Amino acid sequence: MRRRAVLLALAAFLAAPSLRAAEAEVLVVLWFDTEDYLLPASDDAARRVAEILSARGVRATFKVVGEKARVLARRGRSDVVAALAKHDIGYHSNLHSVHPTPAEYLAESGWHDGMAEFIRREGAGARDVMRTFGVQALSAYGQPGSSWAPQAVAALPQIGVATYVDEGGHVGFDEQPFWYAGVLNVFNMGRNLARMDLHEEGGLARGRDEFQAAYERLRASGGGLISVYYHPAEWVHREFWDAVNFRRGANPPREHWKQPPQRPREETDAAYQRFDQYVAYQLSLPGVRHVTAADLPGLYTNRIRTDGADVATVRAVAEKVAKGPALDVVSDAQGRLVSPAEQFAILGRFLSRAIKEKAIVRWVEATPPLGPARRPPATEVNELAWPAFRDALLDAFDETATQGQVPARVFAGTKQIAPADFLRAAAAVTVQILDASRGGPIVVFPEKVAVPRGTTVAAERYVADDTADLFGGWIIHPEGFRAPRIVEMAKLQAWTLKPAERAGR
Ligand SMILES: [Zn+2]
Repeated sequence: MRRRAVLLALAAFLAAPSLRAAEAEVLVVLWFDTEDYLLPASDDAARRVAEILSARGVRATFKVVGEKARVLARRGRSDVVAALAKHDIGYHSNLHSVHPTPAEYLAESGWHDGMAEFIRREGAGARDVMRTFGVQALSAYGQPGSSWAPQAVAALPQIGVATYVDEGGHVGFDEQPFWYAGVLNVFNMGRNLARMDLHEEGGLARGRDEFQAAYERLRASGGGLISVYYHPAEWVHREFWDAVNFRRGANPPREHWKQPPQRPREETDAAYQRFDQYVAYQLSLPGVRHVTAADLPGLYTNRIRTDGADVATVRAVAEKVAKGPALDVVSDAQGRLVSPAEQFAILGRFLSRAIKEKAIVRWVEATPPLGPARRPPATEVNELAWPAFRDALLDAFDETATQGQVPARVFAGTKQIAPADFLRAAAAVTVQILDASRGGPIVVFPEKVAVPRGTTVAAERYVADDTADLFGGWIIHPEGFRAPRIVEMAKLQAWTLKPAERAGR
């Protein structure tokens, strides 16, 4: 027995490195923008791709355009629907490239009208996809081309969509999943975006090398997610269906829509084989796990939202925020990440309860609000007497809780205070009353509260500036199309931006 115990210990010792490696899991989300509603061969391509993956035991996410779902039903393609339904179903806008596209119709919008317009134009298509595929919810949405807007991200829960999965340069966080505008995003994945060329002779070898580079880097740094995407139409077309019809703002009526040119069968077949080998290669790597967009909310968690904030976390957050000069994502003693919007909710709730209950509460909720709906004004005060600060705080927190949004300005009577400045003032007050209470329940409020000016939101740097390519780079948008107001709205939502943490770690 003794000898057996030694052997077991030795085995455990030898296994330890591979056990550690096993923890460094590399997740792969494969997603297909299923959008070509003009070329019937693209229906067959969607079915074939779904079947190739099913045969390998891999589930992918098919983000279906509303019109594509309706066309599949009209063409009687229940076989295509059944093949895709074995996978995960997401959404890819109602009409995709018919003008106005989302960024075109949201280019002049504010926050609330923009969300309402996105829901009006895209909600029915989402319901069509759900009905066609017999699902109650859609796992992910992603924009057509570069037609991105933050109002679309924030509106997803209202049209039955759980996550944002796509690619683009508008917003991102360290090439991994992140929280933004209240939604889990896989976007702007940089070096962790992998795509093999389907049609080139040496495409497979290059695609494998690229995938391997991302895999090894993530494996060596504790794991992560690789995003891989295609369009089923890519297997069969010579040119994208929408470039043929809607290029650079062109908007022919439905009666004049043309089918894109199709590839010869041999090229399509060779591309299926290459893709099958590409997936087989991914499966051959230890520690690779294919996941769908529907799996993501279980794999990534917003711990502070789930757990709420105890006094130690309230203090850790307040101390970091009070220091300034910019608002940033902070972590508490347990490594939970807290976005500026969540900081506003936590400190606002803690202080308003301290004021109302005249006691230090031991725990507060941390439901994340959205960022401000408008660009905040410059702060108009330097200091407030306690009663004025108290009333401003109660009003600001009531607005946050009622609207689910950080106020665009906090009122102290007629004077306006930028919410970032107000949050830092509130953080300093929180530290003071925690110090004064010395761990007890008694609250001593300060007589005066200093209000800083010019506090910025550091995460705005993760939102792209408006460049000619950001929206205008997509061939469907008019030449030179820019949307500075979308970028402005996007920067305001930097309040909500933070990396997504893996669940159970
Ligand atoms: Zn698309």
